[in-house]
Amino acid sequence: MILPPASKKRLLGRRPKNNMKKLIIANWKMQRGYRESLSLAKELVKKLPKKTPNGAREIVLCPDYLSLSAVGDILKKTTLKLGAQDSAPADKGAYTGEVSPAELKKLGVKYVILGHSERRRHLREESLLINAKIKAALARKLIPVLCVGENLSQKEGGLAKKFLNEELRQALKGVKIKTAADLVIAYEPLWAIGTGQPIIPLEAEIINRFLTERAAMILSKKVRVLYGGSVDATNAGEFLKQKHVAGLLVGGASLRAAEFSKIN
Ligand code: PEP
Repeated sequence: MILPPASKKRLLGRRPKNNMKKLIIANWKMQRGYRESLSLAKELVKKLPKKTPNGAREIVLCPDYLSLSAVGDILKKTTLKLGAQDSAPADKGAYTGEVSPAELKKLGVKYVILGHSERRRHLREESLLINAKIKAALARKLIPVLCVGENLSQKEGGLAKKFLNEELRQALKGVKIKTAADLVIAYEPLWAIGTGQPIIPLEAEIINRFLTERAAMILSKKVRVLYGGSVDATNAGEFLKQKHVAGLLVGGASLRAAEFSKIN
């Protein structure tokens, strides 16, 4: 049977449009001060556009709050996007020390990392709060990057999927999105973050596929699922080859311009 080109593509299982551009997010954490963040952003602007021909990747830099506005200015008129490392569960009010999603939006922020394991661990952030932050970010049309990940004993006890499913269910309770591009999930196994011991890419594919399917059941949309945890220039390519790895969340290796510019 000869199929017209459009039906042929459908039958061969073309990926959803939002999954075609791999997303690479640099999480600078609290590792760089104001001046260092500005120099790093400038160095990346020089290096990165040449590395992403035809917009095959979307690259996002997430500096600390103090540097956000100035880094945003450096990124203007470039293909690089601005991201925040967290945001408040409300736009305005008596939230000492918090930063409003409405204000982040005004600064040109596109993505916001939420529920990172370091915030869960050091600041005792729990699912209820993360859920409220996701809703507040979505209300301002920021794209939440929800981080989920099991610890080593959960992995070794064969409980990873059960735990991840529960983390997802709680963080996404009552969350509504209009399109699949409105929210991103980052699978970040805790035992792989900052340890130099990433997961095997094929295992990431299995878990990312599981998370893609679970999230689709909760949100009725096939959102992008990234992988994060000890990604560097030597292993990034293998992760990016995986069908259900829609991109990468990069910590340590994003702090060195020469290294990060090779992650694509
Ligand atoms: C992270 O903290 O999100 C992360 C992925 O860190 P690293 O790449 O350093 O493991």
